[in-house]
Amino acid sequence: MRVIGVLGGMSWESTQSYYRALNEGVKAALGGFHSAKIVMVSVDFAEIETLQQQGDWIAAGDLLASAAKRIERAGADCLLIATNTMHKVAPAIELAIDIPLLHIADATAERLKADGVTRVGLLGTRFTMEQDFYTGRLKKQFGIEVVLPDQVERDAIHRVIFEELCQGRLEEASRQRYLTIIDSLYTQGAQAVILGCTEIAMLVSQADTAVPLYDTTALHAQKAVAWALA
Ligand code: GLU
Repeated sequence: MRVIGVLGGMSWESTQSYYRALNEGVKAALGGFHSAKIVMVSVDFAEIETLQQQGDWIAAGDLLASAAKRIERAGADCLLIATNTMHKVAPAIELAIDIPLLHIADATAERLKADGVTRVGLLGTRFTMEQDFYTGRLKKQFGIEVVLPDQVERDAIHRVIFEELCQGRLEEASRQRYLTIIDSLYTQGAQAVILGCTEIAMLVSQADTAVPLYDTTALHAQKAVAWALA
């Protein structure tokens, strides 16, 4: 079994989900007492969030690249960046390491394609929804069209991620708001909706809606488990 590197803490609430999913995936595959071999570095999210606010993606990339190097030195065979948003600086991180980066958008897009989804809704931070590093990759590398929520909806989704989910708060009103937005994306022609922020599955799950949901945390972890066991 190969060692999975996890760059976590963004936020730690969702890194917990990764830790569980990686271990459950290995146990499901190998049974018994088997669990995942993991090296993790968990950053202080306050530092990252400040750099996001300042738009200082170069400093954020440097910080995460140095954390990724520590993960590699500690013996990881691959790297997961346990957040969609910070894949914005994935190129800077990849340059700093020799182990492969398993990209969260690729893990998600591969499953969408396998399921025949070519038009998909996307929920995530403002950065993930509005900047090209994520939607552009889905379109250019996988031919998947993204349907985005409108500006007011995007503001609401972003606010809930930072003010509630990243702080471990789950609010029923926010869950209903997200479900309404998911329905609206479906009405606009999305065949499915990506939960494109690693905390969203804490709030909404497939049991809440008939619209097919693609949880990036689960798909990213599944890809890593398959890679580690291949
Ligand atoms: N975990 C989130 C994501 O998947 C948001 C936190 C962050 O900005 O990294 O995008």
